[in-house]
Amino acid sequence: MKDLEVLRIIKNEETRQEDNIELIASENYVSNDVLEAVGSILTNKYAEGYPGRRYYGGCEFVDDIEQLAKDRAKALFNVKYVNVQPHSGSQANMAAYRALLNKGDKVLAMALEHGGHLTHGHKLSFSGQDYEFRYYQVSKDTQMIDYDEIERITLEFRPKLIVAGASAYAREIDFRRFRQIADSVSAYLMVDMAHIAGLVAAGIHQNPVDYADIVTSTTHKTLRGPRGGLILTNNYEVYKNVNSALFPGIQGGPLMHVIAGKAVCFGEALKDSFKEYAKCIVSNAKALANALIEKGYKVVTGGTDNHLLLVDMYASCGLTGKEVEVLLDRVGITVNKNTVPFDSLPPMVASGIRMGTAAITTRGFKEADMKEIATLIDEAIKNKDDEAKLAKIHEKVLNLTKKYPLEKVMDR
Ligand SMILES: *Cc1c(COP(=O)(O)O)cnc(C)c1O
Repeated sequence: MKDLEVLRIIKNEETRQEDNIELIASENYVSNDVLEAVGSILTNKYAEGYPGRRYYGGCEFVDDIEQLAKDRAKALFNVKYVNVQPHSGSQANMAAYRALLNKGDKVLAMALEHGGHLTHGHKLSFSGQDYEFRYYQVSKDTQMIDYDEIERITLEFRPKLIVAGASAYAREIDFRRFRQIADSVSAYLMVDMAHIAGLVAAGIHQNPVDYADIVTSTTHKTLRGPRGGLILTNNYEVYKNVNSALFPGIQGGPLMHVIAGKAVCFGEALKDSFKEYAKCIVSNAKALANALIEKGYKVVTGGTDNHLLLVDMYASCGLTGKEVEVLLDRVGITVNKNTVPFDSLPPMVASGIRMGTAAITTRGFKEADMKEIATLIDEAIKNKDDEAKLAKIHEKVLNLTKKYPLEKVMDR
């Protein structure tokens, strides 16, 4: 690269990614093939419209790429119709709402503070501004989704759409039950599987396409592809509506280089090695949760069924999520603060931290390493004011990440 100013910053980020233990639950490391696709000359091409129906000439090859991405996604999720053009998960959700709803329509979704996402009706998001949202919470006792309570709210509120799916919920979601609840008031069901798409692709969690009218996702979390969105449905009418809601409704030209990256990602996820990978994500998350519980930390719901866990740090050690996030950053462990259900602290402070194992599992970390990570986190917290001890912990982090060079796993 000739732009040395930009190159220097990219190199800094490269070193950060190499050296740190990445526990952000929504991140992952793509393969060199995905990187190459996203960095390709496909970025030069305008292709407004859909394969075979474009507004520009010269689209024969980008048509091939988009068709390949669609065909692979259909095979991966065993679904009839796919739109691979959303620039992000949020765009996918916006298109999905617009395909099913009119402004002001009633929607029921999980509260943000209980694990939902901004695009599930938060007042600062278009979703909360354009539609009348009501929210369900998790059970105060179990901290898990309370389906009977959702059914009760549904019968009273009579939403036109129910949204299932979450950004910070560690348990498997029963999409079949959600379908029954939606049917009780003839509501649509939308599943946002942004976080767990890789686990669905690997057959570890229920496939929501069997139950939902529309399924949205990102491609860059557990699915391990380029940053982007995805929409799936088995309903042809819904598909037609989604296509026009996305383009020309809310987007212009598709990112053909990213769509090529999605095609590569779906191809990788179709391999048996991806199933093995996804299984390891979950076993690592369980191992990390158990190791933390053994050290006395309060893991929300007492464990995990997927790639992530929430730890109530405030209840465990008196530190806020924000404090733990900053502290762990200093020793090279990257996490994010997160509210826990019924949190007494505001979101920018938060009682909890969220941790995920998708990225470190890609790197090759094993269950034994999860124990070590739990120990490093615990040591950092116990020695939070001891610079010398924190420096030692940082060194241990570097030794651990050195064992699993990124270069090696990106070549897959
Ligand atoms: C990450 C996420 C999104 C949004 O994806 P972006 O690509 O960041 O816009 C939407 N829904 C859920 C549940 C998510 O976790």
